[in-house]
Amino acid sequence: MADSTGFLKHERALPPRRPVDVRILDWKDVYLSRQNGEDAVFPVAAVRQQAARCMDCGIPFCHHGCPLGNLIPEWNDLARRDDWTEAIERLHATNNFPEFTGKLCPAPCEGSCVLNLQESPVTIKQIEWEIIDQAFQRDLVKPVPPQEHTGKQVAVIGSGPAGLAAAQQLTRAGHDVTVFERADRVGGLLRYGIPEFKMEKAVLDRRLDQMRAEGTRFVTGVEVGSGRDGAPTVEQLRADFDAVVLAGGATVGRDLPAPGRELRGIHLAMEYLPFGNRQALGELDEPPIDAHGKHVVIIGGGDTGADCLGTAHRQGALSVTQLEIMPAPPDRRTETNPWPTYPMVMRVSSAHEEGGERLYSVNTERFVGDDEGNLRALLIHDVERVDGRFQKVEGTERELPADLVFLAMGFTGAQREGLVEGLGVELDQRGNVARDVEFMSTVPGVFVAGDMGRGQSLIVWAIAEGRAAAGAVDAWLTGSTTLPRPVTPTAVALR
Ligand SMILES: Cc1cc2nc3c(=O)[nH]c(=O)nc-3n(C[C@H](O)[C@H](O)[C@H](O)COP(=O)(O)OP(=O)(O)OC[C@H]3O[C@@H](n4cnc5c(N)ncnc54)[C@H](O)[C@@H]3O)c2cc1C
Ligand code: SF4
Repeated sequence: MADSTGFLKHERALPPRRPVDVRILDWKDVYLSRQNGEDAVFPVAAVRQQAARCMDCGIPFCHHGCPLGNLIPEWNDLARRDDWTEAIERLHATNNFPEFTGKLCPAPCEGSCVLNLQESPVTIKQIEWEIIDQAFQRDLVKPVPPQEHTGKQVAVIGSGPAGLAAAQQLTRAGHDVTVFERADRVGGLLRYGIPEFKMEKAVLDRRLDQMRAEGTRFVTGVEVGSGRDGAPTVEQLRADFDAVVLAGGATVGRDLPAPGRELRGIHLAMEYLPFGNRQALGELDEPPIDAHGKHVVIIGGGDTGADCLGTAHRQGALSVTQLEIMPAPPDRRTETNPWPTYPMVMRVSSAHEEGGERLYSVNTERFVGDDEGNLRALLIHDVERVDGRFQKVEGTERELPADLVFLAMGFTGAQREGLVEGLGVELDQRGNVARDVEFMSTVPGVFVAGDMGRGQSLIVWAIAEGRAAAGAVDAWLTGSTTLPRPVTPTAVALR
C-alpha cells in the first residue's frame, strides 16, 4: 500500500545539478553521479521519500501521459519500500530502456500526475532513473535470451531507440535479428545527436552489452539500400530476411532558404552535434565545426537547439543567442492547456541555465556576409501573429552579429533516396513512411517504427513504437504473438 499522506509530509525535490562554472568545463552528465561518490547530495533515502509522495490514485492519471503504459504507482511504491528487485521487474515489464527515458524524457507522466493540479507532481522520471541505476549497480540486469529459436530472420534498419526496442523484443521472441546502422556506432540519436552532458554514452553501452549477450547482431557502418561500401542492396535485404523493420528516423533537417543561406558558417544542427559528441568522447581534438571564440546564433527554440547551446558553451563560444519565432511560453498553464495535458510552459533546461540569450517572436530575414563569403550577421525582425499568421513588425529590423548559425527547426521526415525509394514504400502526406494498423508499410513484410513512421517525436514514443511493431512482426511471422503492443500507429499524446 502506498503512503496516502506522503505528499503532505514531503515537498517535491530533485537532485541538484553540478555547479554551472564546473560542469561547463567538461562534457560529463550535468547531474552528480552516485558512482563518483557524490551520494551525500541526494541519497537513496531522498528518492524513496519522493516515491512516498505517490498516492496510488484510484485513477492514475500519470498512465494517460505515458505511451508505454508504465505501471507508475506500482514501481513508485516498490521504490519507497526499498525493493529494487521487484521495482525493476515491474519497470522492465513495459519499458526496455528506462535509463533512456529516466535521463531524457520530458516526462508527460508528470504533466498528468494528479499532484500536478498543485504543480508539484511526483518526481516519476527521477524515480525511474533510480530504479534502473540501482538495478545495474546490483547486477540485476541480466541477458534474457530466448528459450526457443523460430529460425526466422529479421532485419532492423536503424539503431535508435525504436530499432533497439524492436530488436530486443524480437530477439527475445526467438527470431534471429540483425540491426543495420549507417553510423560507425550503434544508438541513433542517442549516440551522436543527444550530447554526453544529457546522457553519457556509457549508459547506452551497458544496455547494448545486454542485447549482444541475448543474441542481437549489430552491423555498423552500412547504409542499407545505398549501394555503397558493400551495404546490402534492397534485393539482398528481401532475399535474406523474412521481415524487415524500418527504424531509420526522421533525419531530413528543416532548412531555412533565406537569402544568404549559401554563406560559410551556416549549418543544420545535426551537421554540428555529432562532431560535438565525438569531441566529448575524445575522438576529435579539433571538430570541423567549432564554436570556440565565435558568436553563435541558434535558430529554433526546442530540444535540439538547447543541445547546440550546451555544446557551443562547452567549446568556448563568445556568445550564444537562440531565436524562436513563437512568443515566449507562459510561466503557468493557461485555460486552454489544462491538467492533465502536457504543460506548455517556460522551461529552463540545463543548457539554458549555463548562459546565452533567448529571443522570442523574431524571424530571420536574411543572412549577411563579408566580402569573402563568410557569415557576418543575421538581419532579424520582430513578428506578431495576425489571424494565425506571423507578420513582420515594421521598423524592428536589426543586425545580430554571428560567425556561426545552427538551424534547429525540426525535421521534415524520412530520407527518400536509397532505402525508401529502393523498397518502393509509400510516404504519407507529411513525408513519413506510411503504415497500416499493423505497422506494415505498403510493401508486405516491411514494417516501420519510430520517427520514420511517426515523424519527429520523442524517445518514449520511439520505444513504444518499437515494442508495438515487434508484436506486429511476431504475429506476421508466426501467426500469433504474446508480445505487448502498447500503442497503435495513429495513437497521439494526450492533448
Ligand atoms: C538533437 C536532438 C536531441 C533530442 N533530445 C531528445 C530528448 O532529450 N528527449 C527525447 O525524448 N527526445 C529527444 N529527441 C528526439 C529523439 O531523439 C527521437 O525522437 C528518437 O531518437 C527517434 O528514434 P528512432 O529510433 O525512430 O530514430 P533515430 O534515433 O533517429 O535513429 C535512426 C537511425 O537509423 C539510421 N539509418 C537511417 N537510414 C539507414 C539506412 N538506410 N541504413 C542503416 N541505418 C540507417 C540512422 O543513422 C540513425 O542512427 C532529440 C532529437 C534530436 C535531433
Ligand atoms: S497520478 Fe501521480 S500520485 Fe497518482 S498514481 Fe500517478 S504518480 Fe502517483
